[in-house]
Amino acid sequence: MSDAATAVLVVEDEPQIRRFVCNALRDDQCQALEAGTATGGLEIVAREPVHLVILDLGLPDRDGISFIRDLRNWSAVPILVLSARSAEQDKIEALDTGADDYLTKPFGVGELRARVRALLRRQQQRVDAGAVHVFGDVAVDLSRRIVTRAGAEVHLTQREYHLLAVMVANTGRVMTQRYLMNQVWGPGHSQDSHYLRVYVGRLRQKLEADPTQPHYILTETGIGYRFQP
Ligand code: CA
Repeated sequence: MSDAATAVLVVEDEPQIRRFVCNALRDDQCQALEAGTATGGLEIVAREPVHLVILDLGLPDRDGISFIRDLRNWSAVPILVLSARSAEQDKIEALDTGADDYLTKPFGVGELRARVRALLRRQQQRVDAGAVHVFGDVAVDLSRRIVTRAGAEVHLTQREYHLLAVMVANTGRVMTQRYLMNQVWGPGHSQDSHYLRVYVGRLRQKLEADPTQPHYILTETGIGYRFQP
């Protein structure tokens, strides 16, 4: 990270993990802010410009999910959650509530830095973004609802297009099955995840060079999908 003013808040009650994460961020030229409680963390985001929040889900005063719910009422700052391997359901709930990505403990410093860079980059792209998104030989024009591949228009059904548009709007983010089902089919269908698998398969057929080895629409096993051009 070249911008020394990039501020990352680490909300984690275990001092050893907090120190490990903060040191990794400082080595990457980020300014690391620290909080050991959810309440302390929310106070810092309210007070200072924060570009990213790294949040442990198991905190002493409030659980991480309620932290996310509270923060999302007034801030769109990206959130990377840290969760224990045993807490799979918490991780999915955190993503459903508005977290952007997750890391499972224990994680290495390289993976941590890569996730942080990706989230900060995506934040920047969102600021810069025009209506046309290009990945490989595919271009998605959200304003004109036109998708082309190698210059030729790709025919998508309305539902396929809607799913693709939601994925493009959430580039880099882990999208849970429930989130995608809610967005594309509406709240009544959040359990019918086989629809989602079928439509993801069709998008891969139409947009990926090798649909069996997708490069853009990636599966997050047990959780959902990630659109990663
Ligand atoms: Ca903890």
